[in-house]
Amino acid sequence: MLEHLPAFPHFNELSALYKQLEDISGASSHDTVAVAAIGAMNDLVIALKVSGGEFVMNKAIDLARQAGAKSVAVLTIGDDWEENLHSEMRIVRYLVEERGSKISKDNLKNAGIVIYCAKGVCPECWAWLDKHGIYGYPPRKTKARGWGHPLTRANYTRSGNDLNYVKVAKYGDKVLTVGKQFG
Ligand SMILES: [Zn+2]
Repeated sequence: MLEHLPAFPHFNELSALYKQLEDISGASSHDTVAVAAIGAMNDLVIALKVSGGEFVMNKAIDLARQAGAKSVAVLTIGDDWEENLHSEMRIVRYLVEERGSKISKDNLKNAGIVIYCAKGVCPECWAWLDKHGIYGYPPRKTKARGWGHPLTRANYTRSGNDLNYVKVAKYGDKVLTVGKQFG
């Protein structure tokens, strides 16, 4: 049977690598893995929001190299990964703020970035990625319970249809409703 493949660059390679990463990290339904190609398969960024992800970092690097990566970064849970920061957004933060050759927020759209997450990219991440010219695949309808902005670090939790801004530092855990004001 012929399967219609989505118009998503590097779909076959990224989805195959994703599956291997899920296998080695033992990702459960609570964990998230995302894989990004920066322009091409020779430049990959992997986000493992998986407990113990740091212990499979070397295996992940090997798999990425087998998939064609010359440059590869593996991001695991650490001090700079908030609860509500999704894997797709963790990759964006790395690209803009951390890697050797940083990509400014305004230049993200010119970098040919594609991010794959088999669980589906939530509506908030998809909208942010789309706004910055990044492919997120596949889009998912289910909304996330919380969302963290990759660059401003604003933290949102969901109440019904709204994402509510949580300004922890100034107001404790008080929730300030500002609607969907991120981007
Ligand atoms: Zn998301």
